[in-house]
Amino acid sequence: MTARTTKARVGVLALQGDFREHLEVLRALGATGSLVRRPEHLDLIDALVIPGGESTTIGKLAFQYGIIPKLRERAASGMPVWGTCAGAIFIARRVPGHPHPIADLMDVTVVRNAFGRQQESFELDLAIPSLGAVPFPGVFIRSPTITALGPNVVAMSSLPDGTVIAAREGRLLATSFHPELTRDLRFHEYFLGIPRD
Ligand code: GLN
Repeated sequence: MTARTTKARVGVLALQGDFREHLEVLRALGATGSLVRRPEHLDLIDALVIPGGESTTIGKLAFQYGIIPKLRERAASGMPVWGTCAGAIFIARRVPGHPHPIADLMDVTVVRNAFGRQQESFELDLAIPSLGAVPFPGVFIRSPTITALGPNVVAMSSLPDGTVIAAREGRLLATSFHPELTRDLRFHEYFLGIPRD
């Protein structure tokens, strides 16, 4: 564990969804984890995780509580932000057919519930080269996929059919799946390794 990792003040957006699981993993890695529920909480952190859950609810509450403008400001000035599942929907710039507030941070198109009814939840070993050669356990729960990537976005992992399920743009990360629901801490470690100001 690096000094940088231990000093990280990482917030988890705690309006709805599985924020507690993220907080546990971040604390296990030595970060100072805190729950973000109001705009002023964003002043206390150096990086933010947006959990899985229900993107409609997360978006509406974030809008109501006035979190979105401040979040955009912090992300624009370089704060790392990672959206998992519903969080990936919330940080995307484009979500077809989703007439709800989103933070509009990352230059990707994200399609909700992209795996359809037959495959609402499943687990799959994923190749994620940035995390090393050992496959990462992908937990998918009514997950979205990333269907278009802007010029500065890099795909970090794709399914065998080419569907992108993890991507990075600068200090922004989006994953379709839920690393916080596994015992594998590598994705959280990777996030903590992204430079912070
Ligand atoms: N299907 C959910 C949504 O669209 C996301 C599911 C999840 O976060 N596990 O908000």
